[in-house]
Amino acid sequence: MTKFDILIVGGGAAGFFTAINLAEKNPQLKIAILERGKDVLTKVKISGGGRCNVTHAEFIPKELSKKYPRGEKELLGPFHTFMTGDTIAWFEERGVELKIEDDGRMFPVTDSSATIVDCFISLAKKHHIEVLTNHAVQDVGFDDAFAKAQTTTNTFFVKTSKGVFTCDKLVMTTGSNPKMWKLLEKLGHNITNAVPSLFTFNIKDKRIDGLMGVAKDVTIKVLGTKQKSEGPLLITHWGMSGPAILKLSAWGARDLAAINYKFDIQVNWLQHYSQEEALEMLMELKMAHAKQSPHTYAQLDLPKRLWQSLLIAAGIQPSIKWAELTKSQLQSLSRELTQSRYKVDGKSTFKEEFVTAGGVNLKEVHFKTFESKKVNHLYLAGEVLNIDAITGGFNFQNAWTGGYLIAQAIDS
Ligand SMILES: Cc1cc2nc3c(=O)[nH]c(=O)nc-3n(C[C@H](O)[C@H](O)[C@H](O)COP(=O)(O)OP(=O)(O)OC[C@H]3O[C@@H](n4cnc5c(N)ncnc54)[C@H](O)[C@@H]3O)c2cc1C
Repeated sequence: MTKFDILIVGGGAAGFFTAINLAEKNPQLKIAILERGKDVLTKVKISGGGRCNVTHAEFIPKELSKKYPRGEKELLGPFHTFMTGDTIAWFEERGVELKIEDDGRMFPVTDSSATIVDCFISLAKKHHIEVLTNHAVQDVGFDDAFAKAQTTTNTFFVKTSKGVFTCDKLVMTTGSNPKMWKLLEKLGHNITNAVPSLFTFNIKDKRIDGLMGVAKDVTIKVLGTKQKSEGPLLITHWGMSGPAILKLSAWGARDLAAINYKFDIQVNWLQHYSQEEALEMLMELKMAHAKQSPHTYAQLDLPKRLWQSLLIAAGIQPSIKWAELTKSQLQSLSRELTQSRYKVDGKSTFKEEFVTAGGVNLKEVHFKTFESKKVNHLYLAGEVLNIDAITGGFNFQNAWTGGYLIAQAIDS
């Protein structure tokens, strides 16, 4: 039976970040990462479309924490210790420069996730962290003393597909693996059941048919729920995507799962204007462009193809002139512009990033140290916790923050 000071289960983002920070602080510790797969860091590799969106240029802890539909309250304290600026500095000090894109997402300047993977692998090697792949953890037990008293000197027995290991401190960074949640349940934790987050909406509707690639800033409501969001919406082959939709999918992850991803949304293509205001603007346009067809020029900042499609939906054909539009046609158009209803029937995976909402109940973790309140010397970080964020680099930031705080908390 091989003994380690610290075993980290899960060779992903949170696991490597924890291990490296621990080893840098405590070179004498014997640390191993147990990974079930034949490769480590597989999600980091495919993340951000192969570019790895490492973090997000949001430097105010409170604002950063607001990006987490689950975890907002709990991460606020930890972000005061380790957040975006620290992440940037951490990577820079280890030779990885990050850059900011217009929307705030941060990537390695190389635009390649391999830079992050290589950085982690070489640091693990440099600090003699044992990376044991093809080691699937199957069970965790304690020695008798631990079971009785949970005192300071405990031993964990970690059963893997390749034999049993022991350690004094155990870090679980197993992401969204249901088997590991079951195991943690056995150890006394409560698990919030997992549902997908960060997905796009499937919509078949004549009004958006053939408009893929069209984008517009909007506000959206999910009818029959409290869910609403605003921001850019992107029309795709299958329906709707873009930040406004992804935000809804994150904040509404549970509500939308409960209705089996079948619901109606209302889109305000004019974002902040009401139907009455839209009607007034249309009346003014009618006066100003009396002799033209409304189809000739897009109005109200709408992309032309979308504008034309909404005109057709309001029953306004290209042959008609602004001056000929009836009050009822203008009303119908103002409704299409501000209260367009669409039927969502299912969801699709957002390829750039997706996460699971669910995991270890946050009340059962000390957020100064990320140590379990149920089992002494057991630490948890990353997606194994019931924490997830909207898209943009925030999910990795959660992994880095948790990993860093664990490394600070574990004293040799
Ligand atoms: C396609 C895609 C793209 C993404 N892009 C981004 C992005 O650009 N930016 C961003 O912020 N987030 C992104 N995310 C989300 C991000 O990848 C996760 O939030 C992050 O990887 C979570 O880190 P983690 O270490 O908790 O879990 P993971 O990275 O999932 O690592 C968990 C590890 O534990 C291992 N494991 C599980 N069970 C066992 C076991 N029993 N024994 C041993 N090992 C085990 C797994 O094999 C895995 O290697 C993306 C996700 C996906 C799916």
